[in-house]
Amino acid sequence: MNLNDKFKNKLRCTCNDVVSFEMIDEIECDWGNHVVIQCPICEELFCIDNQCPAFQDVRKLANINTGLYSKVELENYLSNSHPN
Ligand SMILES: [Zn+2]
Ligand SMILES: [Zn+2]
Repeated sequence: MNLNDKFKNKLRCTCNDVVSFEMIDEIECDWGNHVVIQCPICEELFCIDNQCPAFQDVRKLANINTGLYSKVELENYLSNSHPN
């Protein structure tokens, strides 16, 4: 399953609403480009391809949406994060 497919269905957001996240491709941060999703209710941005300090951590969504990311996917998410 690719990243985009994961967020086609409604998911619970950290604002506690169940929402259809909007997919925003190619948002730039200081280190590169990301695929980011935005909650239409609280307008929070979550980076879904790798951890980035400019956006919310998708692990927050993985914690409240069981099975959203596998353990391996979460490890990849972290291992691709930016250098400190
Ligand atoms: Zn929200
Ligand atoms: Zn970044």
